[in-house]
Amino acid sequence: MKTGIITTNTFSNHNTGLGHPERADRVSVIIDNLKKFEKKLIWKKPVVFDKKFLKITHSNKYVEIIENSFPKKGFSYLDGDTVVSPGSKQATFDAVGSIISAIDGVINKDFKNAFCPVRPPGHHSEKEKAQGFCIFNNCAVGANYLISKYKYKKVAIVDIDVHHGNGTQDIFYDNENVLFISTHQYPFYPGTGSEQEKGKFNNICNIPLPAGTNSEEYLNAFEFALKRLKEFKPEFVLISAGFDTDARDPLASFKLETEDFYHITKRILETSKKFCNGKVVSILEGGYDLQALQDDTERHVDALIEFN
Ligand SMILES: [Zn+2]
Repeated sequence: MKTGIITTNTFSNHNTGLGHPERADRVSVIIDNLKKFEKKLIWKKPVVFDKKFLKITHSNKYVEIIENSFPKKGFSYLDGDTVVSPGSKQATFDAVGSIISAIDGVINKDFKNAFCPVRPPGHHSEKEKAQGFCIFNNCAVGANYLISKYKYKKVAIVDIDVHHGNGTQDIFYDNENVLFISTHQYPFYPGTGSEQEKGKFNNICNIPLPAGTNSEEYLNAFEFALKRLKEFKPEFVLISAGFDTDARDPLASFKLETEDFYHITKRILETSKKFCNGKVVSILEGGYDLQALQDDTERHVDALIEFN
């Protein structure tokens, strides 16, 4: 089976203003580059999904506030750095729809695994709060979709973004069906992510690492993430795939190299194979250097393609 790539061009209409790091080029460079894998990939567009799935993750009130927040022209601010424009509405819904499409595609065996290069990202978005470029928590909606629609009882989310996924942690803090594992620079934005934040059911696993963490140090620490993943025996794995751990990233201070993203992805796939037979869906979170995004997502997808 092939690997699915779920995306659509509406991401380019999510205008965040001149000079904003979370910009449309981030996704267009990834998509343009992945076209060279044409024969190994199945390209699919996000589905239009039932809003009830959004409302499992976010409150009714929050969904309503967000739906009414998109301006007819110009920009509006959901927090200090989360900007929306008229085109953001469709992009925001398509980002959520992409993970739902990806999950359906893997479960229906249209493809073996999938990557969603979309924006806005999601992992800072809490149950009732937009934050850090994130509006709806795409990955969290995906996990709740697996639990609600497909009756899964063990969904793992591995967050490899350099920032702590505070939103995902907030949403699943007291949900024993979800194991949330996050490696991140700490102390750093958004301030959360200490080892003491363990979740009500010991279902949160934070692996904070200092600024300057290099490939060897990261991959050593990642072994602990894999150990927790193995103990949990996931039925499905979602990856919050941030590429801002790359040494070239302008917003953070890890020193990862392109090959590391291949190894990280491969190790997640190998570790979960026994439990979920490779049912893995990855979605783009951060990553703000265009060349790094292009190189690192290529190796990330390489690992997804190679996995059998
Ligand atoms: Zn990030």
